Amino acid sequence: MDPSRLNACQAQRDQMIRTQLVARGVGAPGVLEAMRRVPREWFVAGGSVERAYEDAALPVDCGQTISQPYIVARMTEALEPGPQDRVLEIGTGTGYQTAVLALLAGQVYTIEWYAKLLVPAAERLAALGIRNVTFRCGDGSEGWPEHAPYDGILVTAGAPRPPLPLLEQLAVGGRMVLPVGPPEEESLLVIRRTAAGYEQRELLRCRFVPLRGREGWPDASMTDP
Ligand code: SAH
Repeated sequence: MDPSRLNACQAQRDQMIRTQLVARGVGAPGVLEAMRRVPREWFVAGGSVERAYEDAALPVDCGQTISQPYIVARMTEALEPGPQDRVLEIGTGTGYQTAVLALLAGQVYTIEWYAKLLVPAAERLAALGIRNVTFRCGDGSEGWPEHAPYDGILVTAGAPRPPLPLLEQLAVGGRMVLPVGPPEEESLLVIRRTAAGYEQRELLRCRFVPLRGREGWPDASMTDP
């Protein structure tokens, strides 16, 4: 990343980390450092610095959202990405969460439904010098079997239930973090695959845009990728 362009909003980023993340119990040093480095204003419409560091999800193109920083941090922390790990992300959106993952994992594979979001996301990451991300446009609800198994799978849109193909593509010892349930009462789940099966816990209650596609919500599949 080019340091001169990144330092511009360092004070806002440091404040976001203190007040929105550390104060609410996010403690993983790697996650905090990654979020200290990714310039969120690059991912927000119009590059608005004030909006970029708000404690909120924000609207982006195609009726989608960029997730709230706190949710990005909690999801990343629960995923526990390590430097050798292969991570699959469903729902690239702006690429903000993708960039955070790419600083922590070995290789990131990311799938986005809308080309109109995917292309600028890929351009942003290239401009930041991030090279360990492979992009694909299409239905991510069925995963990406060619590169499986994954040490981590992160889904940034709410699913009716944990998609079977994603469970199958998780390595033993791997973690999947995803929002599940009807839009008004979603749970952010952490599912760990063990030699014996799958263990599941609820991280928090949340609200995401709906997952489309074969394993997503039927009425959310209205527009083609
Ligand atoms: N992590 C993103 C948040 C994106 S919102 C960010 O920080 O910007 C969720 C994204 O999931 C949307 O861009 C939406 O288009 C995408 N999505 C929904 N269903 C999908 C599917 N089946 N396959 C791939 N992407 C999907």
